[in-house]
Amino acid sequence: MAHGRAMIPHNRPLITAEDRAAVDAVLSSGWVAQGPQVQALEGGIARLNGGGGSCAVSSGTAALFLALKALNVEVGAKVAVPTYACSALLNAIYMAEAKPYIVDVQPDSFCLDPVALAQEAVDAACVIAVHTYGAAADIAAMRQSGRKLIEDCCHSLGGASKQGQLGAEGDVAVYSFYATKIITGGQGGLVWSTHSEVIERVRDYRQFDCRKDYIPRFNLQMTDIQAAMANSQMTRIDDIRMRRQLIAKRYLDALPVGFSTQTGLMEINRMVYRFVLVAPDIKYRDALLRHMRKANINCVIPIERYELLHNYMKLDPSNFPVAENLADTTLSIPFYPGLSDSDIEYICNTLRKFNL
Ligand SMILES: *Cc1c(COP(=O)(O)O)cnc(C)c1O
Repeated sequence: MAHGRAMIPHNRPLITAEDRAAVDAVLSSGWVAQGPQVQALEGGIARLNGGGGSCAVSSGTAALFLALKALNVEVGAKVAVPTYACSALLNAIYMAEAKPYIVDVQPDSFCLDPVALAQEAVDAACVIAVHTYGAAADIAAMRQSGRKLIEDCCHSLGGASKQGQLGAEGDVAVYSFYATKIITGGQGGLVWSTHSEVIERVRDYRQFDCRKDYIPRFNLQMTDIQAAMANSQMTRIDDIRMRRQLIAKRYLDALPVGFSTQTGLMEINRMVYRFVLVAPDIKYRDALLRHMRKANINCVIPIERYELLHNYMKLDPSNFPVAENLADTTLSIPFYPGLSDSDIEYICNTLRKFNL
């Protein structure tokens, strides 16, 4: 162990005494399945987005799948996704029997590149745009007559851009409450939309019991135990955003020479989900990773080359130069509200000591 310090994990949920009490109240109530807490979470997200309707589900992946179904994306329809993203997108598209269309990303925002979309996937019937690490994907530039737009807000819950709250521009927004996300119930997801018929279709599909008619449905519900924890954390969403920006500011002031980051971390109301350094090349990135690990600070390569969606799909990597370069040059360092001031200072000092 370096300096007698315990290893600083890359991520860790902050669960307060209030969160525990909220879960305990559900356990004491005797109602642990989907119930009033789930309904309250749905109301909370709708309020955050300034209206519309929402339906909580079992995961972010389920939310993506249900968004595709509820938007009537047809069997075999082309759904464009950024290659620099998690494989949940592919899974949801295949579950919905649609066809993924992989597109490169922008070097500054790490989000789906609207120019590449227009050049290579002009006939995409639907786009899933991820607000990667909280950066705003350019939703307006992806709009096209007849095309459906899904905003993946799994990294951006509670965050805004100059255009306003992220998630409000597309047809549907999806969220995840998995353990590593901004707000967590352990697991969980949610679909939000201003189109009430879309939310009704999601609501119909997530639960099969006690129906008069038969059509295939599934059990994709969230429990009140999970929702109670998420609701308790939602009351702190502004504090969480401010704390995250404060930590980001400290790290920005300690950036090693030659390194940069995703743009816009300090924009007003930006939700910074991850702090990802961008190295000049793979040699510098790997050296920084070793340097941090030697100091007992656990950092991760957020998306490796093999995980890029075009590589999973065995497409020609030379068509995705920006994402290939990001996979080689990015490093994600510990970044969460539960980091102590002393952890933050130690991480900053360790960054400052790095020189190749
Ligand atoms: C986590 C995540 C998902 C999937 O959510 P789960 O709740 O883990 O199923 C989808 N998209 C993005 C961008 C994510 O970060």
